[in-house]
Amino acid sequence: VAMRVVELSQERGLVMVDRDVAELSDGQVRLDVAYCGVCGSDLHMRHTMPPGAVFGHEFSGTVSEVGADVSGWSKGDAVAVLPYTSCGTCGYCRSGNENQCVTGGHHGLVLGVQLQGGYADSVVVNPDSLYALSGSATLQRGALAEPVAVAVRAASAVADVDRSEPILVVGAGPIGLFTALALRAANHNSVVILERNAARAEVAGSLGFETVVGDDPAVGLRKLGIDQPPAVIECAGAGPAMNTAISLLRRQGRLVLIGLPMNRPEIDIESVILKEITASGTAGYSRDDFTRAVQLLADDIIPADGLITAVMSLDAATTAFEELTDPMTSHVKILLQP
Ligand SMILES: [Zn+2]
Ligand SMILES: [Zn+2]
Repeated sequence: VAMRVVELSQERGLVMVDRDVAELSDGQVRLDVAYCGVCGSDLHMRHTMPPGAVFGHEFSGTVSEVGADVSGWSKGDAVAVLPYTSCGTCGYCRSGNENQCVTGGHHGLVLGVQLQGGYADSVVVNPDSLYALSGSATLQRGALAEPVAVAVRAASAVADVDRSEPILVVGAGPIGLFTALALRAANHNSVVILERNAARAEVAGSLGFETVVGDDPAVGLRKLGIDQPPAVIECAGAGPAMNTAISLLRRQGRLVLIGLPMNRPEIDIESVILKEITASGTAGYSRDDFTRAVQLLADDIIPADGLITAVMSLDAATTAFEELTDPMTSHVKILLQP
């Protein structure tokens, strides 16, 4: 039996090809992919993944085949997929930080063992990667569980900041917007988003967030009555944005870094030291974070649909990449539908 996948070509383009479906082992489950999100990291990995790789780590689907040894899942079940595997026995796994497991693999990313991603008609996964969708968690929303889980973990990094204090999110791309929504879900009452792209700032505004646009964010913040925020979550992944975050923070403030820079930016470490800023990184999500993300979608606490700006067919992957590579894009999250 053949299926369609979008794979990276020798020339680093995206091409749709037919492939034989993988053999299903007794302990695995096959899914028909329903929706797969296009992520900023996919755009970057186009230049780093080996040809033949299949992207897609943000996908939902319905169970189409269940291995003989698998219980608890049956054909037709609607699921979100946690796209990595973890050993379950190392210190990281045992402390609930499976995202740091050193022996795992990843669907659609070069992290450990590379597994086929969701830019495809179907994917074979481990049953412990499946999270049942229910309530308001439609298959479309299920494809957003992964970026929402990233945001849940980022928001938990400022869990001890007083709920009445302002928190600044830098960048209104998908991760910035989901992080702002996860902060709101965690009862942080004053979340402000800093964004230079007016179209994306507008999306942030439509979700009910105060936004600061323009060249002098300190002035913009003061207009909102905020002198210096005690915490900034940096989601843009660019050196200048990180330095802006450092300069805006109050002394002894908290800097959470989530946007991954593509080069090694020059960071104002001197200010980090002199202002006694605590900086921390956050990467991916644990199984608990993913469970929480699916729950937030099911309970309609995170209104994720507003972030889906297009649903395109799988063979339009190239178009989706072109749209999202444009720095002035008005797209937030594009889903591919096989
Ligand atoms: Zn992603
Ligand atoms: Zn482990």
